[in-house]
This record gives sequence, C-alpha cells and structure tokens, in this order.
Amino acid sequence: MASPMSAAGFLDRLRREGATVVEVGAWEHHNRNHKGPWGPVYGVMIHHTASSGDEHTIGLCRTGRADLPGPLCHGVITKDGVVHLVGYGRVNHAGLGDDDVLRAVIAEKSLPVDNEANTDGNRHFYGFECENLGNGKDPWPEVQLEAIERVAAAICRHHGWTERSVIGHLEWQPGKVDPRGFTMASMRERVRDRLK
Ligand SMILES: [Zn+2]
Repeated sequence: MASPMSAAGFLDRLRREGATVVEVGAWEHHNRNHKGPWGPVYGVMIHHTASSGDEHTIGLCRTGRADLPGPLCHGVITKDGVVHLVGYGRVNHAGLGDDDVLRAVIAEKSLPVDNEANTDGNRHFYGFECENLGNGKDPWPEVQLEAIERVAAAICRHHGWTERSVIGHLEWQPGKVDPRGFTMASMRERVRDRLK
C-alpha cells in the first residue's frame, strides 16, 4: 500500500527522470479532494485527450468540461514532449473501472479484460493526458512517447513498482479506447527497460 507522493516530491521525481516539466498555475492545490479520497496509489494511467493544440489541450485538462470538472489529470504531455502539471491530488481522469484489473495491477500480474465499472480509479492512479486526436491517424512523436516513458518510470521508481503498474485507460474502464496509436504493451516495455 503506497501513500501518494507530495506535490514537491512528484515534481522532483519527474525532473530527476529527465522529463521537461512546466508548472501551470497553482497546480499543487488544484484537485477534487473534496469529492473523495486520494490514495493509496497503485499505478499510473495513460490517456489521450482527443484534442489538438497545446493551449487548448492544457486549458481543457486544467478546467475540465461542463459535465466533468477539472483537473482531468496530473500532467498534460503535449506533442513536443513537455509535461504540463495542471493538478495534484484526486483528479477526474480514471473514473469507474474494473476491480479485477485493480487487483492485477496491485499484484503486478497480467491484466484481465476490463468488463466491469465498479471501482473508483481517481483515488488510486496517477494520471497523464497526452495530446492526440485519438483517431488512429494522428501521429505520436517519439519525443512525446519518451516523455510518457519518463514520467511513468519516475513514479514506478519512487514507489518500487515494475512496468506492470502502468496501464492505459482502455485497460481500466469498459468502452474506453485511449490511448490509441501505440500499444500499452510497447510502452510497458519501454518503462521496463528504463527501470533496469
Ligand atoms: Zn482517458
């Protein structure tokens, strides 16, 4: 069982892993902690934004939408590989997912198919939204994939987790397709190699 890092510790970890990080507003205190618990943490979740344009994407993830208030993640990874921190604490990114998947993440075993939405994921996962249209055609620049690899590895390194603690939204919540355009298996391989 792992307690979440402090905001300062989180920032430090990301930078020490070589990520280029930008702090957006009072990100350390922007969260949804009044809506429920944050922690214990069990993993890292990767998403795509289904949007384009840095400014629009960062604003959307910070503020949220009428039906889903922000922040929508901890960090936004834009196509240039920069990690923009928009929130810290409980944030609206994972939603309800499958308790069998959560058990597999905790045990760092291979994931079962997600077929239930019965468990609060916002409490248990660090979350990164990555700028991509998610249409299967929009490219994922290498610098952006490398940033995903670095932030995921940074968090795993802190908590003593393996690459199996890194999952995609599509592996958590039935009906979700993100991230689309690379496989989570390939990203886990990258994280595994970085953690060696
Ligand atoms: Zn998502």
